[in-house]
Amino acid sequence: MSASSASPAAPPRPGAFPQYPRTLDCVHCGLCIPDCPTHAVTGREADSPRGRIYLMRGWAEGQFELSEESHGHLDQCIVCRACEGVCPSGIRMGEMVESFRAATGPDRPAASPSRWGRWLFREILPHRGRIAALSDLLELYQRSGLRDLVGRALPRVSARLTRLHSMQPDVPLRAARRIETDRRHAAFPAEGERRARVALFLGCVGSEWFAPVHRATIRVLTRNGCEVVVPHAQTCCGALHRHAGVLGDAAKLLAKNRSVFAEAGVDAVIVNAAGCGASLKEPLAGVEEGPPSYQDVCEFLGELDIHPPERALPAKVAYDQPCHLLHGQGIGGDVVERLLRLVPELELVPLAGSERCCGAGGVYNLRHPEMAEPILAEKTAAIRESGAEIVVTGNPGCAMQIAYGLRGTEIEVLHPVEILARAYSDRH
Ligand code: SF4
Ligand code: SF4
Repeated sequence: MSASSASPAAPPRPGAFPQYPRTLDCVHCGLCIPDCPTHAVTGREADSPRGRIYLMRGWAEGQFELSEESHGHLDQCIVCRACEGVCPSGIRMGEMVESFRAATGPDRPAASPSRWGRWLFREILPHRGRIAALSDLLELYQRSGLRDLVGRALPRVSARLTRLHSMQPDVPLRAARRIETDRRHAAFPAEGERRARVALFLGCVGSEWFAPVHRATIRVLTRNGCEVVVPHAQTCCGALHRHAGVLGDAAKLLAKNRSVFAEAGVDAVIVNAAGCGASLKEPLAGVEEGPPSYQDVCEFLGELDIHPPERALPAKVAYDQPCHLLHGQGIGGDVVERLLRLVPELELVPLAGSERCCGAGGVYNLRHPEMAEPILAEKTAAIRESGAEIVVTGNPGCAMQIAYGLRGTEIEVLHPVEILARAYSDRH
């Protein structure tokens, strides 16, 4: 492969890119290529894992400078990590791309993240109070009728803005968004004999926008003998910072969460967003590792041996696997499907390509709609084909993306714990 538009002659700079030695492990076998969603869209080697490794290695060795076009191939990696699962050399594409973005980002005006992105990363995402205030404004915008007015006007202005605008999820009402009962933490007692004491991780915008999933998580955990605490001082997981190569900020957030949850004195920290879970579990340079451990909610419930729910949910359900659960945390579909099978009369239907990315990738779908759209189209076509009435996925970003792709259909998009909570709900 030639590095398109890359010019020769640059100083070698392996030291600037700590993951450089790992690029040498690639044996160019190409086994990863069929699993890469971006290569499936363009068919170009430069949009495949192997092509991207070639570009990163060549840049670090000073074989060539990368043009904006070549950088674009690296920016367009979703960091879905599908290639990691098949690579015989154990390439860790997530770490490699994030490290490369950290090494090259500051010198590139067009790099990820933009000035606005950095402002969002530093001034909004780590501050739950500011996210709550913005969510209040968004709620007002959505419920005052302004959203509908703007939605009707935008197609005359910009197709990109129309798409962005139509992707916004409905923000729950303010009263339903707040999980905590005081400024320090909330506590929800276990039903029956206590089997574990756990903390719930809320996330950044997830702490406000995905409150129904948090409530369902608390419901299922307490029903199964877990006391749940929700420390107020927790913060963003830093996944978006990592994807963009802003690793220093990501490390600070990881360290802050570790100290908050260690102080809570819990057996485990439960995470119901696959992207956050993968980020919280993944070590980062400069951040001490140690207890408590983070566990995805389905992983934890699977090990807990939960009570079978009593209430029947007669519906056809398909499970779509979030990349950051499957590839990022090594939690396969069997773990989630075993839980869903406990629900009486629920019929699990197979979903072709359930392991393939939906194109959400944090905010990838907003930054690269031209790539995310065809990836999503493949996903929604498979969901329609499956005959499912409900599609279940354990990552809020994927849920938003799939719900956007399924607009105009009757197919509901839910988190696995929302299904379980519904099936337990007749007891209260
Ligand atoms: S992480 Fe995903 S998008 Fe990036 S190279 Fe690997 S398979 Fe392709
Ligand atoms: S599977 Fe691994 S070793 Fe083979 S080309 Fe892809 S990244 Fe390189």
